[in-house]
Amino acid sequence: MRRLKFAVIGVGHLGKFHAQKLCEIEEAELKFLIDLNEERLKEVSQLLKNRYQREPEVHTDFHRVLPEVDAVVLSTPTSTHYEIAKEVLQQGKALFLEKPIANTLSQARELVEIAQQRGIPLQIGYIERYQKAVRLLCERVQNPLFIEAHRLSSFAERNLDIDVVLDLMIHDLDLVFLLKRGVEIDFIHAVGAPLFTEKPDIVNARIVFKDQSTCNLTASRISLSKQRKFRVFERGIYYSVDTIEKSFLEIRPIPETKNFALERKDFPEDDPLREELSSFVKGVLEGRALIPSGKEALLPLEMAFKIKEEVERRLQGLYGS
Ligand code: NAD
Repeated sequence: MRRLKFAVIGVGHLGKFHAQKLCEIEEAELKFLIDLNEERLKEVSQLLKNRYQREPEVHTDFHRVLPEVDAVVLSTPTSTHYEIAKEVLQQGKALFLEKPIANTLSQARELVEIAQQRGIPLQIGYIERYQKAVRLLCERVQNPLFIEAHRLSSFAERNLDIDVVLDLMIHDLDLVFLLKRGVEIDFIHAVGAPLFTEKPDIVNARIVFKDQSTCNLTASRISLSKQRKFRVFERGIYYSVDTIEKSFLEIRPIPETKNFALERKDFPEDDPLREELSSFVKGVLEGRALIPSGKEALLPLEMAFKIKEEVERRLQGLYGS
């Protein structure tokens, strides 16, 4: 069996989980852990040794390990993605790049272009696509008229190099694109506010499509409790997915009664991070399309930047430039 040799660059909060999941995937061989923080490298390598009896080499500089791997998981802060990802792609290594692709649209486009021109596999970490409850939702939904999403997190000293649109809302934008693929947008109304940081920490966006369907998305990183709810309404059916509970709910009125038929499915064993990495590994080994590819992942990112612009424009009106 062919195995892909991996380096994980950035083993902070999320990178630690990436490293663990790679140890669970038979077709992957985790050879290197890279992080600028030596303490963190020690912690994560001790964990892998205890839990999986694996001892990947640790380094603080990614450049020296690239010639020895087939693929990279890049999970450093977004502001570093462009520089590191560009080097990885230029060295011809398959890349699993955490969302968002980069913190400017031009950098994101350039990375996608490099991958496409050189035929290098590039997958972006839109993990919600790998939730079983979300997959079921996408199978069932036919013609969404109204979509409502709440993605709330408590404040953490991480990912503050980006605002809440690139940090959290991007996941819901990706799902909206899956459900409204090909439908043109009429207009966007978006408001937000910087609260604990200099960047918008809470944003509400209303996207109205040319078919008159609407979605209302709220993302906040200033919340006491975590919430991940995605609700879709179409004629005669209401769907509700909760990716913390890992549950799917479908509700329909029963004709000629005052009652409703309720179908609930729970996926307690679901492990979307493992699923998405496994799909990446198999996709690279078998030369299959990656989900989502860099090119596909650009569409929600473009929408995210329109929302960011709209929020900034209103904030300038509020506070002056
Ligand atoms: P984090 O701050 O916990 O971890 C980042 C790590 O990268 C740190 O350990 C830091 O020392 C290291 N690092 C920074 N610059 C480096 C460099 N040049 N070379 C090597 N290591 C470097 O952040 P996080 O929460 O793990 O987020 C990392 C990325 O993952 C971000 O892009 C974020 O948007 C994304 N993320 C995605 C999801 C998701 O649901 N898909 C969830 C959380 C974070």
